[in-house]
Amino acid sequence: MNTPDLRHRLLTWYDAAARDLPWRVRPADHAAGVRADPYRVWLSEVMLQQTTVPHATPYFLGFTRRWPTVTDLANVEDGDLMAAWAGLGYYARARNLLACARAVARDHGGVFPDTEEGLRALPGVGAYTAAAVAAIAFDRPANVVDGNVERVMSRLFAIEDPLPDSKPRLKALAGDLVDAHRPGDWAQALMDLGATICKPKSPLCDRCPVSMHCAAFARGDQDTFPRKTKKAARPRRFGIAYVLTLGDEVALVRRPDKGLLGGMLGLPTSDWTSAPPTDLQGAPAAAAWREAGEIEHVFTHFSLTLTVLKAEGDADDVVWTSMEGLGALPSVFLKAARLALETPRLL
Ligand code: SF4
Repeated sequence: MNTPDLRHRLLTWYDAAARDLPWRVRPADHAAGVRADPYRVWLSEVMLQQTTVPHATPYFLGFTRRWPTVTDLANVEDGDLMAAWAGLGYYARARNLLACARAVARDHGGVFPDTEEGLRALPGVGAYTAAAVAAIAFDRPANVVDGNVERVMSRLFAIEDPLPDSKPRLKALAGDLVDAHRPGDWAQALMDLGATICKPKSPLCDRCPVSMHCAAFARGDQDTFPRKTKKAARPRRFGIAYVLTLGDEVALVRRPDKGLLGGMLGLPTSDWTSAPPTDLQGAPAAAAWREAGEIEHVFTHFSLTLTVLKAEGDADDVVWTSMEGLGALPSVFLKAARLALETPRLL
């Protein structure tokens, strides 16, 4: 592997083809001395974990309009933040986001630490996010490795060991390639290569700036990398979601802080178990429940089938919410509410 040539080719490609992203400083501006705002880099990286760029972008724009600095974000009420996050999923990230913003505001005067170690010490900031912010915002030679970069490394070096055991090796290979002169651009160039050219299925090798250095391409079996250990099938759970209406309002409950969708407002539900429920466990009231149908939702660790029941009536210990307010519900509850209220587009 001619590493200097590979670096030169990838960075030259990035200079010409970098994606325009609202949190990114373009390479020409960066070369002219413009620095990325660590708050925007951090926020984008947290949002992009498990979320695509097109899905995260409107959230990023909305957040930075409402809360232009990390101190503004630190002052937000928990409930407002959770409502603004609704639809992005993985709600533990929103809680970590707030904990981190408050730590930066309280302990660092609203200024992010400028080293990987300092960033890593913030609450909720993992190794990947610390490396990404250190590289992109502060031009530290950090090794920024996510699933995209692992895939690129596995192909460049035709690594036969399957994931996840091969992770340390792939990380070490990526570490050897980091460009010490332009580490922020290097990290983003690799991200762009993985996202736009070296895609999971059907990589566009004829447009790849480093194909002459790619071992898998030379063999012609690049689509087969990375090798993976076979995954166990995702288990299925079952439950009931209750849509209780009183006039124009719907009964919601605040979910416990710990656990899935913790701290979010949601529809009352039964427990989610491996067999379909046989009674009205978790119903918010004794009412004339009618079946509206079923919805399916896929979480990271299981698939969920929810039977949706609806009724009119009053209940204690619920939060009555207007129909418009339902738009801030996590997607699984939004699906159930849409089905029960027969408003596929209104919410
Ligand atoms: S040549 Fe193809 S497989 Fe190899 S790095 Fe480029 S896009 Fe990926």
